[in-house]
Amino acid sequence: MLRLAALAGALLLGGGAHAATLIHAGRVIDGVSDTVRTNQTVVVVDGKITSIESGFRAPAANDRVIDLAQGTLLPGLFDMHVHLTGEYSKHSEIDDYKLNEADVAIDSVVYADRTLLAGFTTVRDLGDEFRASIALRNAINAGKVPGPRIIAAGKAIASTGGHADPTNGWARKFPADPGPEDGVINGVDDARKAVRQRYKEGSDTIKITATGGVLSIAKNGLNPQMTEEEIRAVVTTARDYGFKVAAHAHGAEGIKRAVRGGVDSIEHGTFMDDEGMKLMKERGTFYVPTLSAGRWVYEQAQDPNFFPAIVRPKALQVGPQIQATFARAYKAGVKIMFGTDTGVGKHGDNAREFKLMVESGMPAMEAIRDATSVPAKFLDLEDKTGSIAVGKLGELVGVPGDPLKDISVMERVVFVMKDNTVYKAP
Ligand SMILES: [Zn+2]
Repeated sequence: MLRLAALAGALLLGGGAHAATLIHAGRVIDGVSDTVRTNQTVVVVDGKITSIESGFRAPAANDRVIDLAQGTLLPGLFDMHVHLTGEYSKHSEIDDYKLNEADVAIDSVVYADRTLLAGFTTVRDLGDEFRASIALRNAINAGKVPGPRIIAAGKAIASTGGHADPTNGWARKFPADPGPEDGVINGVDDARKAVRQRYKEGSDTIKITATGGVLSIAKNGLNPQMTEEEIRAVVTTARDYGFKVAAHAHGAEGIKRAVRGGVDSIEHGTFMDDEGMKLMKERGTFYVPTLSAGRWVYEQAQDPNFFPAIVRPKALQVGPQIQATFARAYKAGVKIMFGTDTGVGKHGDNAREFKLMVESGMPAMEAIRDATSVPAKFLDLEDKTGSIAVGKLGELVGVPGDPLKDISVMERVVFVMKDNTVYKAP
């Protein structure tokens, strides 16, 4: 009876509506287990996985078939660190003075589309401009524009002059003393207000910049830029509103302050020392390495004119270090989630991170789990997505060949399905 009702519903949608989507997959990596199942049919009806069967089931009259017999089907991928409202370029410093809200908003729609087509069906946006990531999230959720599910931080929270103070480098003639409303704090009261302001604006999560960063117009890329008390005030306030807290941190001291202050994830973690790793293991803090961003800034810094003069030495210092730190942290048993910092680097290139993770000693299957079921659990989405199982949403991606033999196939996604829509088909 239920089945008939669903079928009638699908037919009522009229032209182009399919009763079921049958994905014929040569291999299925489900995002949880170590076992790869071969020659399977994964059936999606009304956006949900309704069965997983051995062999390639023949379609009924109104079914749609996706032929992935030569490839591998995976859960939709997660990138836990992106910035969909921008893409860094040689012109970024001057663009900061030229771009209006509408320019940023329209760019972000393009970047969201590229991200989805690269196989990323969920992203955590860790810092935007003009609250555009929140508007973008709402438009995607409403089905107005294609894109990944977005967990949006909105404006990142910094201290005065710190990484994510939006007025760094400005001449005195511009008004340049932003406060908690604009994501700049000094002291615990400001910290609380900044979190509450993000709640008011519709953020899903909180991002702080606990140390200097590479691309800001400021001298130091590593120094601690918040007190432990400020970080703790952010975290305790965030808990009142059900927010998790992500901390950008490059230097060892800032990393430890953030972990002791109670944050849920350390982003970049470049100069993490053994004590920092031990603290993270004790407290269960996740590490989001963003190897792609480290690699990208280091490569661009080879051109002496690419970055502003104050940025280049930081890119040369931080870039090459992250991958070695990731290798140590992984060996030490720190919990890891896949994240790229894309926006630094081109949107749509997110999957390059897999190769860098595997190069650094992580088995391919574990890198895939860190981009599927592990972040799904972190975001309390594991009932919906992050794995291939009956009852989960049909958020699925296909790659040619076998990523366990050649991880670079993750960069050549041929099939993307989300919200019962096939965005890319082989
Ligand atoms: Zn970032």
